[in-house]
Amino acid sequence: MEDDMPRNIYDEDHEAMRASAREFVARTLAPRAEEMIAGKSIPRDIWLEAGKQGFFGLDIPEEFGGAGVDDYRFNAVVAEEMSRFNAATSSCFGIHSDVCPPYIVDLGTEEQKQRWLPGMASGELICAIAMTEPSGGSDLAALKTTAVRDGDSWILNGSKTFITNGYQADLVIVAARTDPSKGAKGITLLMVERGMDGFVNGRKLDKVGMDESDTAELFFENVRVPDENRLGPEGMGFISMMQRLPQERVGAAVSNVAHAKAILEETIQYAKDRKAFGQPIGAFQHNKFLMAELVTKIEVAEAYVDDCIAAHAEGKLSAVDAAKAKWWSSEVQNDVLDHCVQLHGGYGFMNEYRVARAWRDARVTKIWAGSNEIMKELIGRDLGF
Ligand SMILES: Cc1cc2nc3c(=O)[nH]c(=O)nc-3n(C[C@H](O)[C@H](O)[C@H](O)COP(=O)(O)OP(=O)(O)OC[C@H]3O[C@@H](n4cnc5c(N)ncnc54)[C@H](O)[C@@H]3O)c2cc1C
Repeated sequence: MEDDMPRNIYDEDHEAMRASAREFVARTLAPRAEEMIAGKSIPRDIWLEAGKQGFFGLDIPEEFGGAGVDDYRFNAVVAEEMSRFNAATSSCFGIHSDVCPPYIVDLGTEEQKQRWLPGMASGELICAIAMTEPSGGSDLAALKTTAVRDGDSWILNGSKTFITNGYQADLVIVAARTDPSKGAKGITLLMVERGMDGFVNGRKLDKVGMDESDTAELFFENVRVPDENRLGPEGMGFISMMQRLPQERVGAAVSNVAHAKAILEETIQYAKDRKAFGQPIGAFQHNKFLMAELVTKIEVAEAYVDDCIAAHAEGKLSAVDAAKAKWWSSEVQNDVLDHCVQLHGGYGFMNEYRVARAWRDARVTKIWAGSNEIMKELIGRDLGF
């Protein structure tokens, strides 16, 4: 893929960020890859190191310990490099550093920003966002977790599931129903902190892929959350989430493409090295054409996602375009990785090969961050249906 079309969204500053992210992967993450798989999570000291290297504070203003760069292209290069290592690290770091901070930066009071943002930038406070519940994730407006006013506090009851960083989370943005009579307009965001009575981080869930990420259930039993932990106005939780989901979805798209591209590059090399019937397996016309198709699919998807990154950096990415990028890139990623497994033959089914893990990891990208069906629903609605 040496003769790829040049990408023109990044300048030398973004490439310098890429170089430092790549070095972080090589020095800090790669040697610990097996430990993260076995522990189903990223160890705390790695979070702290990533914070020290400045990967978490991109969206956080300097006065609160971040870099305050306000240029999404920096987030994108970091996400690309983490995805090249593995999809789970990209997801865990992405939720913590790209998805959660904008909620606090945009909606938080001065006191809330001072309390939480420096720890998030340094990696000391691991953050999660909890929307999905056991009874459903797609129909977010129907969520059942309740928060009832009691003086200057809220009493929170309910549970969330499939929460990325949920087991380790120190701080969770929780969507709760504060007015049962108002549907989507009765949802409020509350910041739940580790150690609050009645808040339990459940077990790490046993997943098909993304072994390195901690994905957990969260339980709230009469948790007293002070009103000073309310994020944004009462009843505005649903709208706040809808406004910020495009950043989560473009981030997912960036990771999907970079993840599949890295494994495809390795697969092309494998197809040059592996011999059958006296020739490299890539030289069989079927495989050569297949890889030609896969490279094309990746580059075309990347071009669309690059346009989304550039638009988002300028604050112009629409929710519909983010939805297109999310569903399309996840289909391309899964398609490419499935063929990469096939090109590896039996080794492609062995966990010790990156391609096998990547194939398992990719399956969830059609489900999370809003399922692909929900993405098409959003796009279809925009067509006037
Ligand atoms: C590994 C992992 C990590 C996750 N991390 C987080 C996280 O950090 N925070 C968080 O809040 N959530 C997280 N999720 C949850 C994820 O966003 C949801 O799983 C997803 O939104 C789908 O919700 P559901 O699982 O309840 O499926 P359901 O909503 O029950 O949907 C089931 C099926 O029905 C389809 N469907 C539903 N409604 C429609 C419709 N209107 N039209 C057509 N089809 C429809 C869906 O597309 C899906 O195929 C994570 C999930 C996983 C697996």
